[in-house]
Amino acid sequence: MKFWKHCYQGLLDLFLQSQCPLCQRPTSTDFCPYCQKQLQRCQIPQPEKFWGNDFPVFPWGTYSGSLKQALWTLKYEKQPKIAQPLGFWLGETWLKSRLKLGKKLIVVPIPLHPNKLRSRGFNQAELLATSFCQVTNLPLQKDGLERISETEALYSKSPIERKESLVGAFKIGKAFRQRHPKAEVLLLDDIYTTGATALTVVDTLNKYDIKVCGIVAIATSRNS
Ligand SMILES: [Zn+2]
Repeated sequence: MKFWKHCYQGLLDLFLQSQCPLCQRPTSTDFCPYCQKQLQRCQIPQPEKFWGNDFPVFPWGTYSGSLKQALWTLKYEKQPKIAQPLGFWLGETWLKSRLKLGKKLIVVPIPLHPNKLRSRGFNQAELLATSFCQVTNLPLQKDGLERISETEALYSKSPIERKESLVGAFKIGKAFRQRHPKAEVLLLDDIYTTGATALTVVDTLNKYDIKVCGIVAIATSRNS
């Protein structure tokens, strides 16, 4: 009996295993133990130090190595399930942080242009925000913002070119048009680089008297 139980458990384990999205090794968890370790090495020890510079940012990790690969795989190899653990880790770190904001917050993911959303099939920031909000219990407003112009990839542009290409890129979303939020907005994006996107969004929301307290992101390429 024990033997059959053992066999059954072995088959069940095999059946439940899937491939690690980063290295394709079989795993029964989100990432295989090796990739999990590599990802954890990207975590920033004191994310609070980014809060309150030119713009308050709360990043989970450094945009390099395995974390860069994970975000690339999520978006360009269309592996939306990667968003769940990453959003979860960001949420856990947010809860453990020493930031005492003491105000009501509502989480708004940075939107994609509808054309990009159609071709990708999902907005990674929205999936990350969903997981982040499950952990933090903060309310999520998916339709707080709309992206109305398609911007080319920003990474190849200079800071001034980034700003210029983003002018008028966003407008207030239908949810906030219908009802002005009573809480301050906490933006959420996958990557924070120069902050050009965040500042454009802040301008857009401030025009409607909606305050933004900062942005949480999975990764940043900045050092401080
Ligand atoms: Zn792996």
